[in-house]
Amino acid sequence: MTTSKKSFYQISKFLISKPKTRIICTIGPSSSSKKQIKKMILEGMSVARLNLSHGNVKFHKMCIENILEISNELDAPVGILADVPGPKFRIGLIENEFMNLTTGDNLIIDFTSNNKKDSNSKIHNSIKVWPPGIENEIQEGSELLLDDGSIKIKVSSINKENINCTVSNSGILKSNKSLVIPGKGSQLDYFTPETIKSLKFIASNKIDFVGLSYIRSEQDVERVKDFFSNKTNQPKLISKIELPLDLNTLGKIIKSSDGVMVARGDLGVQIPISKVPSFQKKIIKLSNKIGKPVITATQMLESMIESPNPTRAEATDIYNAVNDGTDALMLSAETSIGNFPIESLKKMSEIALEAEKDFDHINFMENRNNEDVTTLVDEAISYGACKTAHSVRAKLIIAFTESGSTAGRIASFRPEKPILALVADESVTKKLSITWGVIPLLAPKFFKVQDMFSTGSKAALESKLAKNGDMAVIVVGMPIGVPGNTNLMRIMKIPEPELND
Ligand code: ATP
Ligand code: MG
Ligand code: MG
Repeated sequence: MTTSKKSFYQISKFLISKPKTRIICTIGPSSSSKKQIKKMILEGMSVARLNLSHGNVKFHKMCIENILEISNELDAPVGILADVPGPKFRIGLIENEFMNLTTGDNLIIDFTSNNKKDSNSKIHNSIKVWPPGIENEIQEGSELLLDDGSIKIKVSSINKENINCTVSNSGILKSNKSLVIPGKGSQLDYFTPETIKSLKFIASNKIDFVGLSYIRSEQDVERVKDFFSNKTNQPKLISKIELPLDLNTLGKIIKSSDGVMVARGDLGVQIPISKVPSFQKKIIKLSNKIGKPVITATQMLESMIESPNPTRAEATDIYNAVNDGTDALMLSAETSIGNFPIESLKKMSEIALEAEKDFDHINFMENRNNEDVTTLVDEAISYGACKTAHSVRAKLIIAFTESGSTAGRIASFRPEKPILALVADESVTKKLSITWGVIPLLAPKFFKVQDMFSTGSKAALESKLAKNGDMAVIVVGMPIGVPGNTNLMRIMKIPEPELND
């Protein structure tokens, strides 16, 4: 019996057939086992997300180990995103797991020693809140929204040690759920004790992206950037947009981040829900224009927490996000605590694939090119590659990219055909896991441009993205080895002839 050796540039079918729009799944008790993670990677999960506001270090470490092991086994570059709490209030630990709140109930917020660790409340109608400082942000009469707005409470009085509230609408409250003062971000320092703890955890674990909750300005992003500047692990920074920010601030945040997330959970309690769709579309448009990845998140398949099938409205929401230009879609409670995590992912993937059939690549590319009046060489090369790929009916665009930024730049023009990113560093393959339409693949470092051409051709064939006689567009930087220097594009008919030098 002969064993066939796996060719170097082979790519599993499940990685090629998934939607170009990337899918991020929040990992929680419903999805943390190796078995579940394997199923999810095979069904199209590109990025696994851990929300460090929930669970504990032991759980998160176990998840990371499982994700790394299975992604290695499947040869799939799955990225890991970890969200830090940021300057946002959350409910402390609730004894007996949940608290039933009924309209008219009196609820006490005890702020005497309100850190997360000893937030275990003993009085039946008393809760604690972390991080400390809630008493400084509210007044008598303030309305507070709990758990992304599912429960409303009103402050009746504030004393030395506690805040008395009245429940305005019933619900079940669980530990670590959000507490929001609608319409305003908190005055808290970005680096709350829990945020520092989470950032340190990220700095010493194999985490590719940080989700920065409650970003208020680009200064918040810059401070996190400074924090990681001398650390061994340097994750990409994803700013979660969940506050009512003006477009100018938003633009600055997007520019200083590596990507953004439309975090509709908090957004929908911070601004009137009727304004969420328009804000979502503005954030997507602005991110597309700046050329940074944007994630659409929260409640995308909310009904699937309990049901094996989505609503028509949810299917349409996913379709619209894809056609508006989102790079990635995210599942939250659906996969972390839902009853149908795999089914949710399957449905999201199916709907995204259908939506992509209607994506107007040419229109998107030309609009982006017209809007962005820029003289940047990599913008021009990326647009050129997409336009040329379309003209010559190329089967793929091959990008040799050191940091991954060239592949991201090409993706921001939304070419119809896949972008095969050949990178020399494994961590870069994972950092590209969030980027629309990019298939990252490890390749050696090159010293001659002709070697890059022949490797590009070989990779296109072995990955089955092209066959002999097909056209490909290839993008490289000359001289080789100078990062951020993508300046050469050529059209290649596959296979590239082998030259003897
Ligand atoms: P965010 O504002 O960051 O989205 P969230 O509280 O809405 O915060 P999600 O990350 O959206 O949290 O996750 C949805 C829900 O899934 C959480 O509210 C929580 O109940 C549950 N969850 C997520 N991760 C875990 C975990 N590791 N352990 C237990 N439950 C989790
Ligand atoms: Mg959420
Ligand atoms: Mg949020």
